[in-house]
Amino acid sequence: MAPVVDTLRLTAEEASSLLERREVSPAELRAAYHDAIAARDGELHCFLRTVDEPGGDGVPIAIKDVISTKGVETTAGSRILAGYVPVFDSAVAEKVKAAGLQLLGKTNTDEFAMGSSTENSAFGPTRNPWDPSRVPGGSGGGTAAAVSAGLAPWGLGSDTGGSIKQPSALCGNVGLRPTYGSVSRYGVVAFASSLDQIGPVAKTVRDVALLYSIVAGRDPRDSTTAELPETPQLPEGDSLAGMRLAVPKQVGALEAIDPGVRSAFEGALELARELGAEVRECDLPLSYRYGMPCYYLVAPAEASSNLARYDGVRYGLRTSARSYDEMVERTRDDGFGPEPKRRIMLGTYALSAGYYDAYYVQAQKVRTLLIREHREALEGVDAIVTPTSPTVAFPLGDKTADPLAMYACDLLTIPSCLAGLPGLSIPCGLSEGLPVGLQLIGRQFGENALFHVGHALEQALGFDTVPTRWRT
Ligand code: GLN
Repeated sequence: MAPVVDTLRLTAEEASSLLERREVSPAELRAAYHDAIAARDGELHCFLRTVDEPGGDGVPIAIKDVISTKGVETTAGSRILAGYVPVFDSAVAEKVKAAGLQLLGKTNTDEFAMGSSTENSAFGPTRNPWDPSRVPGGSGGGTAAAVSAGLAPWGLGSDTGGSIKQPSALCGNVGLRPTYGSVSRYGVVAFASSLDQIGPVAKTVRDVALLYSIVAGRDPRDSTTAELPETPQLPEGDSLAGMRLAVPKQVGALEAIDPGVRSAFEGALELARELGAEVRECDLPLSYRYGMPCYYLVAPAEASSNLARYDGVRYGLRTSARSYDEMVERTRDDGFGPEPKRRIMLGTYALSAGYYDAYYVQAQKVRTLLIREHREALEGVDAIVTPTSPTVAFPLGDKTADPLAMYACDLLTIPSCLAGLPGLSIPCGLSEGLPVGLQLIGRQFGENALFHVGHALEQALGFDTVPTRWRT
């Protein structure tokens, strides 16, 4: 019997209209995705666990395993949370359920979302659907790979310094890191609270805008959320007339950017001009120089504080011992992998008396400068454009022995995260047969402008999101 739908191509919007017209039932649709998971997830390992119980009657969805789901184990990719079953839903899980979406499962992530390749997951890496010998990016490699492989029409990820944008770029789909404060973090396993944001991943900009409209908005349980000044709009139209884009002049000199990535990026800029956009230059002199060191002080400092709650008493794993102190020590030693341990040490050091002013306070000052420099660069501009990732997907194992090389993957995504600004990554072509991402950085709460530019470019680019090896 022919499958009811082709999950490799079906968008969430199409799935929703099939359901509306009753051409497919909610159960048939869910079964089609579970069949795809059964066929391809053995190779890819996008899911840490799947859920197959009738939930809502809407479009299925995959959710990154840092997001708490009531009654469904949530581990954040860490052994220390193995066996932890939340007794409540995160705000975003509540919202997607209220919208009728059916949970397909929880997707793989670097442990506590710390990483850029999903290789730091305590439960084994995810593979890139375009080339399984390569990484899907990270930390949200599970969600991004699942969407590209047709294992879910869309999904939710979390982005602290690039974990939605970078895996979307490496897997050839669309990912949005929303403005800080537009989506509730209630019930999300905290990594670095002043940076973490939840956002959508999908095959099209319209799907991303739709899922964003479902999860965004103020939540009294997360005091950093705000009322959205504009209602999220589903983008239409294919013209960029009147839109102003700016390319940071530093991007031209960054040696880390691969020539193939650069040429796909430049091709997309040319297309933007043809669609009527004005493309100018902007200046972000501090961002690419100090963004990374600033992030690797602020994020580990916050992580060291957030991760202090894993003590073997309240959640997940507990290693038995003769005394309380020994139990906590052993649980942490057994439960945390090398990357969280490294971050806890870096963060504790940066926050310790005597070093606090030299490191943490200094990093906060730099962060303020980056906020200002982005604000200036965005004056009279709708979006800043850069490649999302300096390279295409790299082979598994390539950077695992060199943490600094892994950290460098987020060179282009980190500065705007520190500035709290929204970023949309769309696929803009191939290099070496692998997807290249284009990053659009908007003003605070400027998501609608990003959707508009992203959608028009997406139409003109005509990128095929189905990995080459599965095209028929
Ligand atoms: N790769 C970056 C890190 O390891 C960003 C991760 C993220 O956004 N969660 O911290």
